[in-house]
Amino acid sequence: MDTARNIVILGSTGSVGASTLDVIALHPLRFKVVALTAFGQVDALFDQCIKFTPLYAVMVAESGAEQLSVRLKAAGSSTEVLCGEQALERVAALEQADTVMAAIVGIAGLRATYAAVRAGKRVLLANKEALVTAGPVFMGAVRSSGALLLPIDSEHNAVFQVLPANFNGDLGRSGVRRILLTASGGPFRDMPSEKFATITPDQACAHPNWVMGRKISVDSATMMNKGLEIIEASWLFNADEKSIEVVIHPESVIHSLVEYLDGSVLAQLGNPDMRTPIAYALDYPRRIDSGVSFLDLAAIGGLHFSLPDCARFPCLKLAREALRAGGSAPAVLNAANEIAVAAFLTSNLPFDRIPDLIEDALESAAFGPVESINDVFRADRTARDFATQWLTDQKLGFRNRSMQVHA
Ligand code: NAD
Ligand code: MG
Repeated sequence: MDTARNIVILGSTGSVGASTLDVIALHPLRFKVVALTAFGQVDALFDQCIKFTPLYAVMVAESGAEQLSVRLKAAGSSTEVLCGEQALERVAALEQADTVMAAIVGIAGLRATYAAVRAGKRVLLANKEALVTAGPVFMGAVRSSGALLLPIDSEHNAVFQVLPANFNGDLGRSGVRRILLTASGGPFRDMPSEKFATITPDQACAHPNWVMGRKISVDSATMMNKGLEIIEASWLFNADEKSIEVVIHPESVIHSLVEYLDGSVLAQLGNPDMRTPIAYALDYPRRIDSGVSFLDLAAIGGLHFSLPDCARFPCLKLAREALRAGGSAPAVLNAANEIAVAAFLTSNLPFDRIPDLIEDALESAAFGPVESINDVFRADRTARDFATQWLTDQKLGFRNRSMQVHA
């Protein structure tokens, strides 16, 4: 038996984080959890610490860290509680760890994910926003540190699985013509756009096939998730924008495909459950039990495909524009989207205005090069300020509109 893998989970209390611990729990001798982190979910992190006995637990929120520390001590736990954002970077680069699951949501996870990459870890990348916003810097650090980057996003994990095993970043030499990312189309795939204005946060978060955190669920509903995934794929697989297609596939059984020059199309299939890509990456290249139920194709009966509708889902088009523009444009897209989604989730922005805010943020921004993480955060800050001001300016407009609707 090989020695155990020592794992840090950034964002362990989230959907991907919890699924990672579910897979780890099936293989107690193979994986040792050395650090867990959360923003402020004391109860959930406490339970995880008791079950997985990490060396460190990081709680970003100060009051939560104090509570967690007191409770763990009272329970006789030897887990050391650290607090604040810098502690995330510290555990991401921990000497005792060889593997880091990056599962914080949003650009909030960038610094810690980047720290893991720079420390040359095996990085299991769920936090797509880190790569989307900081692509050139992030991939540069992967090359110079020798980190192994394993995609967790189900589509990218599928592409990774069906590319040649010795893929070296040159799609043309590998005989690849196109990457086809599948998309379920989200809960509003067939809804006429006139009804988008009345969509509630709970409706948007009720994804037909996947159970996920609220931010990515809204992204799936607007199809910005697929837009971010196009950008993510371009960095992971060194693919230009034109060679990445999106195909709507409502069953979410085919997780993505690679088309080769000879006409072959290779796909990875499975039940829509994140434990499969997580298990694949956790012990890569060895395959391990994930706890996922096996695919029953006859029971599914049929698989369907269609083209995405960019008129009803303009976020797809906006993401492609940002990718083509390059530099800080994806960071601007991401920042405006994070602000828009947060405003929608708190009922401060109607669903149908999410793309408007992002489009205006992109139009108003002066894109610059991304040569350092600071460049990313500068673009992020400016776009957030713009988006926040946009929301303030529009507030009166929304109020007027809803008064007209109710009149
Ligand atoms: P989630 O909201 O369920 O969990 C997020 C985790 O990050 C939590 O542990 C939370 O405590 C932590 N966190 C949130 N804000 C933080 C902050 N400011 N600082 C530090 N930690 C913070 O999210 P999720 O659905 O698990 O998604 C995580 C990432 O994985 C996202 O980038 C998402 O796009 C990606 N992803 C998720 C899925 C999925 O099925 N959920 C699939 C593919 C990719
Ligand atoms: Mg995905």
